[in-house]
Amino acid sequence: MRIRKATALAATVLALSLTATACGTEDSGNNDNGGAASDNGGSDGGDAGSGGEGLTIGIKFDQPGLGLLTPDGEYKGLDVDVATYIANELGVEAADIEWLEAPSPERENLIMRGDVDLVVATYSITDARKESISFAGPYFVAHQDLLIRVDDEVAGEDDINDLTLCSVTGSTSAQRVKDEVAPDAALHEFGTYSECLAGLENGTVDALTTDDAILAGYAAQPEHEGKFKLAGLNLSDEYYGVGLAKDDTELRDQVNAAIEKMVDDGSWAEFVEANLGPAGYEAEAAPEITETD
Ligand code: GLU
Repeated sequence: MRIRKATALAATVLALSLTATACGTEDSGNNDNGGAASDNGGSDGGDAGSGGEGLTIGIKFDQPGLGLLTPDGEYKGLDVDVATYIANELGVEAADIEWLEAPSPERENLIMRGDVDLVVATYSITDARKESISFAGPYFVAHQDLLIRVDDEVAGEDDINDLTLCSVTGSTSAQRVKDEVAPDAALHEFGTYSECLAGLENGTVDALTTDDAILAGYAAQPEHEGKFKLAGLNLSDEYYGVGLAKDDTELRDQVNAAIEKMVDDGSWAEFVEANLGPAGYEAEAAPEITETD
């Protein structure tokens, strides 16, 4: 197994993005100080520098239900559970995982630089991305939608061109708006989705667009209760894969085998229910694995 350690550059990316995200907390940038282990297997920052075996895994830090660094220093969400399961199958215990923030625009770079072994971060499998990295999976399917203020309505795709939208640079969501869904819409792009939420609340933007599973998590946060809702548009199929170094077929096959086992033994359904159920998200069945060649 390849073992990669976070570099100073990656640490800088981490620190910068944490200051920019809404969920940044006093201790959230201090990712290796022995914070409480998560009840779902999150670690306190892995074993960087200790010489032990481990895995460095890129996840989102600001997506409730999927990948979240909590104010208590715990890592939670479907991607965290999926990544922890895969790591276990690769022979790495939860305590030996180092979690690194993988903002959407940084995911390919983190993999190509060798700063992470795996990216499990609502990472849609696309041909463009496969030019620089490889995927295992998919392990989940979501659909692009819009998060809007609770009193607003978006009847259909035709209305989107009239809106001021917010999304994230380097995401399939932003790209699809520009290329297909609403080329005439004003689009604000940030580094993380949580940065769009303030704009949605104060009226600077009309809608935040990304995958429905992510949006459901934001809508269900206690501080957003009664404020936002999903428009219910099914704008795409987003197949979440596990990103890894290009052409590392050995690792890809191991990860595919882990995903298959996770689905077959019922763990996948448990993870989905535990992480997305509370937001009322109705997930589709686990998709077939496609990343085999
Ligand atoms: N799944 C989409 C993507 O990989 C949108 C969500 C994200 O940015 O993580 O681009």
